[in-house]
Order: sequence, then structure tokens, then C-alpha cells
Amino acid sequence: MVLPSDFADAQTRAVHLARRTSLGVGGTPRWLFEPEDQAACVQIVRLCLAHGVPLLVLGGGCNLLVEDGRIEAAVIATKRMRTFEVHEDRVVVGAGNGFPDLVRRSLHLGIPGLPGCPGIPGSVGGVVFMNAGGRFGSVSDALIEVEGVDTQGQPFRQTIHPGDLGYRSSPFRGSIVTGAAFKRDPAWTPERSAALYHKAMDWKRESQPLAARSAGCMFKNPSEGISAGRLIDDAQLKGLRVGGAMVSTQHANFIVNIGDATAADVQSLIEQVRTRVRAVHGVDLELEVEVWPAPEARA
Ligand SMILES: Cc1cc2nc3c(=O)[nH]c(=O)nc-3n(C[C@H](O)[C@H](O)[C@H](O)COP(=O)(O)OP(=O)(O)OC[C@H]3O[C@@H](n4cnc5c(N)ncnc54)[C@H](O)[C@@H]3O)c2cc1C
Repeated sequence: MVLPSDFADAQTRAVHLARRTSLGVGGTPRWLFEPEDQAACVQIVRLCLAHGVPLLVLGGGCNLLVEDGRIEAAVIATKRMRTFEVHEDRVVVGAGNGFPDLVRRSLHLGIPGLPGCPGIPGSVGGVVFMNAGGRFGSVSDALIEVEGVDTQGQPFRQTIHPGDLGYRSSPFRGSIVTGAAFKRDPAWTPERSAALYHKAMDWKRESQPLAARSAGCMFKNPSEGISAGRLIDDAQLKGLRVGGAMVSTQHANFIVNIGDATAADVQSLIEQVRTRVRAVHGVDLELEVEVWPAPEARA
């Protein structure tokens, strides 16, 4: 691919995504943009469309498995989009804010559900895109509006209705989420919020390897009430290793990087887990983690 001259704003020095992802594996994108606002994102999307360059969006890198080697795509990192406005009825935040910071601040801002989301790393844009959450709360409990740029380079602002976001999914695939608004509710007092926060944090610390390098849960739960981790555990796969990648001994749905894992190690381990779970339980596990390059971005 030839470098278009108007890609001057992009960084073209080698930026290893292994250093920008929590799993710590992955190669180098051809271009990296770090815009500060929605208007800059519009320009970048239009530029990429004009040159036929695939575009990938990077938040906190906490739910990503990036392949090894060169990635023939432009990556747009949201980390500089950090506005944070507190209004009487809502909080409006840029996509690049850290979600753990928003969760901590939610204790005093009265944002429904978010106090139940401690220990979920990543950016606000990433958690909106994934509808991140767990048994004590999720992003969709409080999300009321999303601002972004669509696949055609058009800015949008969308009101969110109940049911618009699903289990670890949102309607924003392909778009760039540049900001989000969360409702405030006086019924979520600091005392109520703190109680939920501590309960959820205790459960997280006990059940998940939070200090290890991982991308969180590798697979989606196949259905409500059936946990992917339980299926993997029952198939006796805890501790299974390929190179530097290992099925966590604490939580079977986490694959951890215990040394110098490569993406190829992780992918090989994923396939072994899937094959074994299919053989033991007759269940096909679907990835929760996003793999880059996505099929539509492969050169
Ligand atoms: C230790 C650990 C614990 C975790 N626990 C949980 C948990 O309890 N519940 C849970 O749901 N998740 C959990 N996760 C996974 C992760 O925190 C969430 O999926 C989170 O939403 C990832 O956000 P991110 O900004 O890091 O996204 P990234 O990893 O940067 O990106 C993930 C996907 O979102 C897309 N994306 C990111 N930002 C944007 C944007 N602004 N606009 C459009 N698309 C975007 C990317 O293109 C990619 O497809 C955990 C992860 C770890 C490492």
C-alpha cells in the first residue's frame, strides 16, 4: 500500500500494539491517528474512505487480540478524547476517558448501574461499543445518548432506548463512538452506590485474575445460565499452555500471557479450547474478544 501524502497527521513510526493492549500481544499498524474530537474523526474517516484504507478503532485495548506482524490498516486511537461534563441530569464524557475512572466518579454522581462495574478496564468508547458489564451492572443501565462518526464519515448523535444494546454488543460496529451521555438518578445515593461497588469489587477480586495480562473473558457465555468458564473448567483445561499463553488457573475463561506470548500462541490455545469443549460438551464457543485485523480489514 502506498502512503497517501495527506496522511501527514498520522504517526507512521512503529507503534507496537502489544504495548497498547492488556493481553500484551500484537503487531504494528501502518498508520496511527490520535484525534482529539469528533470533527477530527470525520476527516480521518473520509480520508480513509477516499484512499480505500481499512480503519480500526482502538480504545483501551482491553478486549483485543491483535495478530502478530504488520497490520495494513489505519488505527484511530481515542485516548485524547477526554472531555468530561457534569450536568444536573446527565454526565457527558469523551470516548477516551478511562472507564474505571468514570465508575469511581459514578459513586458521587449517582449514575445507575455503573457502581456495579468495578474492575472492568478500558475506555468509555470501548465499553459502549461492547456494552460491557457483568452480574452487578452494565453500561446500558445508564447510557442515554451516543455521539460518533458513522462508516460514511457522517457525524451522528443517537438517543439510546432500552433494548438498543444487547449482551456484549451495540449497534455501533464500524462506527467510531466519540462520546456518550449517562443519566443521573438521585435514587443512586453515594451510600447505595458504594455498597454495590464494594460488593462487585470483592466478587471480581475473588473470581478473576485481575493482575495478570489478559483480555478479560475470552468467550461469550453460550446462553444465560451457562457459563463459558464452567464449560472450560469441566473440560479440565485450566493451566493448558501454548508457548507463553495459558488458560488461567483462577478463571477458566481467561487466557493469560505468562511470558512472551505471541498472538499465534493465543490463537492456537483458543482453537484447542474450542475443540475440547465441543468434544466434551457439544457446545461451540464464540469469541467475546475482538480479533484484529477483523475479516473486513484484512488486506
Ligand atoms: C482483567 C479484565 C477484566 C475484564 N472484565 C470485564 C467484565 O467484567 N465485563 C466486561 O464486559 N468486559 C470485561 N473486560 C473486557 C474489557 O474491559 C471490555 O470489553 C471493554 O469494553 C474494553 O474496552 P476498550 O476501550 O479497552 O476496548 P478495545 O479493547 O480497545 O476495543 C474492543 C472493541 O471495541 C471497539 N472500540 C473501542 N473503542 C471504540 C470506539 N470509541 N468506537 C467504536 N468502537 C470502539 C474496538 O474497535 C474493538 O472492536 C475485562 C478485561 C480485562 C483485561
